[in-house]
Amino acid sequence: MVLQKVDLLKNEIPFEEESVVFSEDVKTGLVLVDIINGFCTVGAGNLAPREPNRQISEMITESARLATVFCDNEWPIMAFLDSHHPDKLEHPYPPHCITGTDESNLVPALQWLEREQNVTIRRKDCYDGYLGSMEEDGSNVFVDWVKTNQIKTLLVAGICTDICVLDFVCSTLSARNRGFLSPLEDVVVYSRGCATFDFPVSVTRNTKDGIAHPQELMHHVGLYMAKGRGAKIAREVLFSAPEKP
Ligand SMILES: [Zn+2]
Repeated sequence: MVLQKVDLLKNEIPFEEESVVFSEDVKTGLVLVDIINGFCTVGAGNLAPREPNRQISEMITESARLATVFCDNEWPIMAFLDSHHPDKLEHPYPPHCITGTDESNLVPALQWLEREQNVTIRRKDCYDGYLGSMEEDGSNVFVDWVKTNQIKTLLVAGICTDICVLDFVCSTLSARNRGFLSPLEDVVVYSRGCATFDFPVSVTRNTKDGIAHPQELMHHVGLYMAKGRGAKIAREVLFSAPEKP
């Protein structure tokens, strides 16, 4: 039944997914959004999956694969980590990813990134990594990262497709269109490198304020919305230089 609804929606709002090939000829930066325990590791917190989840597992595997290729080639990576002050809740969500807890740290498969020189880690306390990169003096860590590394293409992966990934992509494309992000040209969202959480309507019927969030459907909607802002959606990400084992 759920599958039929997803298929219906995909027929109503179809979009093209591409196979995108990256090479060292075009300077590319990898952005990893919130691949942290609080959203990905079973039982790790209020917004973590309650049981193993195929979409989230695939997102972690694919993100780790991309991160390995980028580190082997010393290409730039920026990792956003959702990190909240305990007194500042993020409405409408319950407390999650409090700074200093393991919830706000990278998942075990990506923890090694903290020791890599080509990786910039940015803790943020809002959905949108672009806004979350703003400093009090008005500078922006993400914008500086793009300019310092002369990034022309961004490859984006992470969680949640329809929330933090989408918000970041929307802001980035608006900023690019306004000329704030030169030399950035393209934003590519890797669909298999993204995931969102599952809160099916069958569960929310029994809760007071719960808003349904069926995973496959919302993942598709998130990608569709990103495509509508001008992002490319990649079903397959390939590298023209051979990947090291
Ligand atoms: Zn948050």
